[in-house]
Formats: sequence, C-alpha cells, structure tokens
Amino acid sequence: MVVEIDLSEDEYGSGFSQQACNEREQNPISPQRNIATFHLVPRPDLTGTKAPGNPYTITRASTGIGVYEVVSGRRIETEVKINISHSESQIIYQDLKEKIGADGQFPKGYVIDWIYTERPACPDPYLSGRKIHDGCLTEITKLERLQSERRWDVGTNPDMNPYAYRNDLGIKVYSSFTSSTAISTATNLAPVRHEIKHQLFRKLIDLYQKSYDAADAGSEEYDHSYRDEQLPRDTWNLVETTLPRWTSQDTGVTSEVFHQLLQSAADALLRQERNK
Ligand SMILES: [Zn+2]
Repeated sequence: MVVEIDLSEDEYGSGFSQQACNEREQNPISPQRNIATFHLVPRPDLTGTKAPGNPYTITRASTGIGVYEVVSGRRIETEVKINISHSESQIIYQDLKEKIGADGQFPKGYVIDWIYTERPACPDPYLSGRKIHDGCLTEITKLERLQSERRWDVGTNPDMNPYAYRNDLGIKVYSSFTSSTAISTATNLAPVRHEIKHQLFRKLIDLYQKSYDAADAGSEEYDHSYRDEQLPRDTWNLVETTLPRWTSQDTGVTSEVFHQLLQSAADALLRQERNK
C-alpha cells in the first residue's frame, strides 16, 4: 500500500523537498503550480540485497495549464478537470513510461522508494458517482503494484511464480503543504532560514571541535567518531531547534524581518556558546 506522510512546512528545502525547493530557487514557478520529485533506487533482489548503482531523482513542475475531460451526462456535457498536467503525471508519462520493461531501468533495474509532492497527490475525479479518470494517487498505486510484481525478478519461470507480488517495494509519498499560499511563503522564507542555519552551524561546529581538540587531544578519551559524527549531529539539531520557524511568525512576515529575527537568534546562541 502507498503510504502518505505529512511533513512539517518548516522542513521545506531540506531532505525530501530539497530538489523541489531548488527548482523554485532556480526558476520562476508560480506557487499555484506543484512540484514533485520521484526518488529511485537500484531494485533489491528477492533477498532484499540492493544491486549496485546510485539512487537518482526526477523532479518536474506541473504545467500550470488545466486539462479537462468532456463527460457526457444524460442531458448535458460537463468538463471535469483531470490530472494530466500535474507534476506527478508529467514524471510518470514523460520520464517513466518509456523506461518500463527496459533492462537496467524501471522497474527491472530501478524502483521508486519515495515520492515528494508539495501538495498531496490528488484523488480520482468523480462526477455523479462515476469515476472519470485516475488521480495521481491511483497512478502511483499502480506503479507500486507494477514494481512489486515478481516477474521482474524471476522472469516467466512458473516454478518461481512470476505472478506473485513482493511486499517490500512499497512507495512512501511525502508532502508539505495544503495551499499555494503556504508554498509561496515557504519559497520566500526557506532560503533565508537555510542560509543562516548553515552559517550558524559552521561557526558552532568550528567552535565545538576546536575546544574538544584543545581539551582532549592526545588523551585516551579522544573519540574521533564523537568529534566528527555525533558532535555535528548534535550541533545541527541544536541549530534547528534554536532558530525561529516561519510557521510561528505572523502571516505576511517579510523576508527582511525574518532575516533579522534569525540573525539575532543566531548571534545570541553564538555569544552564549563562546562564553562557556
Ligand atoms: Zn495530481
């Protein structure tokens, strides 16, 4: 089953939403358009062992031009909006469909493990109780079922039942927003927070590592993995929890005001840590 997961708006620009946010920083894409990313990994074999190869992502925006299907009712013709223009549908039809079945491609060589979509994948459009078209969530569910077929692993060998389904190739669908206003705010403020977060992190980790080195260099207690892994992780979490979030600000906060707010929080933390 496709699992849908809501992310915090404040995480926009990092993790699953990184490529979508980058796309907005590099291109003028209106907030009414949705951006999606598909993440593909080498198909694991039946024992769960991953094949060699690097994961990759495909990111696309919706076209922004609504597509309608004309539906004839008993008395009237009605137009129903369908998903052809949506970002997920763009990726499925522009990038994935032609790869299906080809060696080394989808889903024989690669499978989708997660999808990020700024706004949740759309449901099927209905008119008077009749389904008109597949929505994006249904299309993703079909991809999950396709990639779960064992025939991609065992060929058509009847001894190995090619018609059974694997249960370890599910797709997780992450999303952050419910409106274009929220996308617009995040696009405006995420880069500001991102920049200050990284600056503060670099200054703090430099400070912590130097003081750790000064205190413990040469001693038996000196722990490289603490210094180079645990300490950066803790520092990142500290920065993340200390810096104000835009979702806690008044609506309409400008990027200048938000920048000032973040900068003074960053300065205060740095001062406090330097004086320890
Ligand atoms: Zn859709």
